[in-house]
Amino acid sequence: SDQISIDALAAWLRRFQHLVADNRGYLTELDSAIGDADHGANLDRGMTAVVAKLDEAPSPDAADLFKRTGMTLVSTVGGASGPLYGTFFLRLGTGLGAVTSVGAAELGAGLRAGLEGVVQRGKAEPGDKTMLDALLPAVEAFDAAGVDSVTDAVHAAFEAARAGRDDTEPLVARKGRASYLGDRSAGHLDPGATSTALLFQALDETLAG
Ligand code: ADP
Ligand code: MG
Ligand code: MG
Repeated sequence: SDQISIDALAAWLRRFQHLVADNRGYLTELDSAIGDADHGANLDRGMTAVVAKLDEAPSPDAADLFKRTGMTLVSTVGGASGPLYGTFFLRLGTGLGAVTSVGAAELGAGLRAGLEGVVQRGKAEPGDKTMLDALLPAVEAFDAAGVDSVTDAVHAAFEAARAGRDDTEPLVARKGRASYLGDRSAGHLDPGATSTALLFQALDETLAG
């Protein structure tokens, strides 16, 4: 099956930063409805810092790339999403190891490790109206696609993340700030599920060229 190079993995992060910057206002608008109106600013600050680090020195391997990403997000984002995205990338880096390219099976295992980190850290369950509601279906769709084509698996993951994001709209939040609203959190997309769909959109676009 096809392989993703370390350069393509770094390009994924750069494309995610672009998508976050382009959607900064939208993510903040979503967070103003059910949170504290900072999700776009939080992630934009974090990913801008990640790209600045990559500009200073490229990473030699996937472990280094994603550990630096995770540590930078933890130290610059704050809020709920900083430790959650940070843990996702730290575990992804540990899961992939010090390799310079990854295939579908390795990436699937790495994404699964990242997902497990988010669950351990945030203790959310499916349907709690969090980023997990985009991340879990994405990882499951990736696995279900098999290992013949990493491009196809990533595309399936993106479509599932987008559907999971859309499915958060009617949900009542049970984790994070949005849960303080109780029933009034229903009728809005979850900001973190929306940014997680952007993460998979970025990977899909990177591989599509
Ligand atoms: P904060 O809520 O601290 O202002 P952000 O606005 O940056 O942080 O991020 C909010 C997002 O974090 C939510 O939309 C939700 O997707 C995610 N989130 C919050 N708490 C949890 C949790 N316990 N587990 C998973 N995701 C969570
Ligand atoms: Mg917020
Ligand atoms: Mg906040």
